[in-house]
Amino acid sequence: MNSKRAYKLGKAFVLFDRDGTLIDHVHHLADPDLVQFKPDLQTSLQALAKGGYRFGIITNQSVVGRGLATENVIKKINDRVNDFLIPFGIVFDFIYFCPHLPSAGCDCRKPAVSLGLKAVAEHQLDPSQSFMIGDQESDMVFGRNLGCSTIQVKGNAQKSLFADYYSDTLENAAKWILTKKE
Ligand SMILES: [Zn+2]
Repeated sequence: MNSKRAYKLGKAFVLFDRDGTLIDHVHHLADPDLVQFKPDLQTSLQALAKGGYRFGIITNQSVVGRGLATENVIKKINDRVNDFLIPFGIVFDFIYFCPHLPSAGCDCRKPAVSLGLKAVAEHQLDPSQSFMIGDQESDMVFGRNLGCSTIQVKGNAQKSLFADYYSDTLENAAKWILTKKE
């Protein structure tokens, strides 16, 4: 038995940001009909699932705090993502979102880590075996603070100093993760 593995009781996850990472960025997205999936989404996640990774989404949804969408609308948008991926055999173990305004000072808006710690507690996520993929600086700081490896996918943000890898596409992000696997 590999003694190093024997002590790893938690699960390896790939955590995703939602907007700009799994789906195209839409400013203050509040309409499920505007959801557009990244072209390499299903193939990338299938490759990661085959590699033994579980999936979760952690997303900042200040549109709720701004009064532009209800929590129910956010759930409907999340359902679009689930409904698209289920036929490909892809399931998210959890989708957590922060509904607060950036100015609220809550502890659940990325880069704060409380929703990541919730995944550790409720889903046995092991940060040392897990990855955070997002397009924003806040995603990279979140992942780093949680103790995950971080991958920034190219979007509208500058390259983050807290990204362990910078990728043009989800497909290349998945490939990088699978080459890092022990
Ligand atoms: Zn919050």
